[in-house]
Amino acid sequence: MTHQIFQAGAEQRRATRQVRIGRVIVGSDAPVVVQSMTNTDTADVLGTAMQIAELARAGSELVRITVNNEAAAKAVPHIRDRLLALNMDVPLVGDFHYNGHKLLSDHPACAEALAKLRINPGNVGAGTKRDPQFAAIVEIACRYDKPVRIGVNWGSLDQSVLARIMDENAGRAEPRDAGAVMREALVVSALESAAKAEEYGLGGDRIILSAKVSSVQDLIAVYRDLAQRCDYPLHLGLTEAGMGSKGIVASTAALSVLLQEGIGDTIRISLTPEPDGSRTQEVVVAQEILQTMGLRAFTPMVTACPGCGRTTSTFFQELASGIQTYVREQMPVWREQYDGVENMTLAVMGCVVNGPGESKHANIGISLPGTGESPAAPVFVDGEKTVTLRGDTIAAEFKAIVDDYVSTRYAKKAG
Ligand code: SF4
Repeated sequence: MTHQIFQAGAEQRRATRQVRIGRVIVGSDAPVVVQSMTNTDTADVLGTAMQIAELARAGSELVRITVNNEAAAKAVPHIRDRLLALNMDVPLVGDFHYNGHKLLSDHPACAEALAKLRINPGNVGAGTKRDPQFAAIVEIACRYDKPVRIGVNWGSLDQSVLARIMDENAGRAEPRDAGAVMREALVVSALESAAKAEEYGLGGDRIILSAKVSSVQDLIAVYRDLAQRCDYPLHLGLTEAGMGSKGIVASTAALSVLLQEGIGDTIRISLTPEPDGSRTQEVVVAQEILQTMGLRAFTPMVTACPGCGRTTSTFFQELASGIQTYVREQMPVWREQYDGVENMTLAVMGCVVNGPGESKHANIGISLPGTGESPAAPVFVDGEKTVTLRGDTIAAEFKAIVDDYVSTRYAKKAG
């Protein structure tokens, strides 16, 4: 079912070139790729490798690391080797600013170990150094056959492009407002940099573009424009989205509009982690955006009602949360053993009002008893009531039903 939905989504996707990043394909009808970025000191080989492994296990298909100094550049091949020793072949993207040309030319093993380079035209070098330093990075990308993301950002917009666009705007009969000028400068910076990279020898099928801003409406406007003016794959992300629900909501609002219009080939959710929070939250949010939109499936989804005055305990909330956690934890094992299990749907409902109906729409649903109802929880499997659970073992018995469903309904993988 989800597979069919995904195909429908793919048909709506904007036609782009395809770019190979290690073993991952980005662009055109390839699935929208989930990526993330570490926040460790890249020079800390073990710490960075462990965080990359954690992000990859959570489902990040590409992981970006900052390469900001000599120690970081030296560490990159060792990080890659540690990951390979863990049997993790996740493509690594190197994020370069200011000194990328020097780090890459001084540390060829770093360039070789990375699957993609990310450069920001606004931070590649100032004044007369800008073009030669940009050219030097592109030349290294060509030498090592690496794709490049040209990622502009309104916090570090190329000031020479902005000044030129402002001058052009001042000469217009009806000058545009400052926001429109800034958006045009972002798009022009990305497109002109891509054209220059192609002039310097980088194939058009080795380029991905991004143009990130932190305002939802500006991001939508910029990407719509970019999508009309080029056929490079686009990396989507709301930059500096923020913490907690604000960051999640703002990113989801912006990316959902664009993805629905077929714009976006790879996404990253730039969440500020809570203190001691897991970095993997940004991967989970990215996956949930794609899955709830029907574009991809990663993990069985749990539908749960919000609860109301008809529920007198938190049991159903605990059951819904426990089941969501359980299936997410089981997925690495299930994914290896069964085909299609990520499409499974579950429902945990709080009372008889919507419980049986919603439960029948899921592959497996349970309708818990609300206030005044008989203490019984009917379970529905593929729309049919199969059993009624009672007592203190409902959670354990429901998990066993889920396990049994997975092992009997999904085809075992060969090997
Ligand atoms: S299903 Fe029942 S408990 Fe849940 S929100 Fe609806 S009425 Fe309330």
